[in-house]
Amino acid sequence: MIYVNSETDEWILKHKLEKDVYHCPKCKGQFEIKLPILTKDCAGIASETHECGSGYVGVVLTPRDQKTDTFWKSVLS
Ligand SMILES: [Zn+2]
Repeated sequence: MIYVNSETDEWILKHKLEKDVYHCPKCKGQFEIKLPILTKDCAGIASETHECGSGYVGVVLTPRDQKTDTFWKSVLS
């Protein structure tokens, strides 16, 4: 999973994501899920890591489509 340097609102629109709130089962904290991320197969948003560690992160994911891949390759190359 990599964090993407992109405007959150733009990213959410592009991938048709919905913002959510992560309820941490460990500290009972609530964290907004809003950081643009990419995985091998999906695009999405994640909550920030906090004192509970990297295992306690909420994510919203959607499969990457062909158009996104093309866009992403053009950015990376
Ligand atoms: Zn926590």
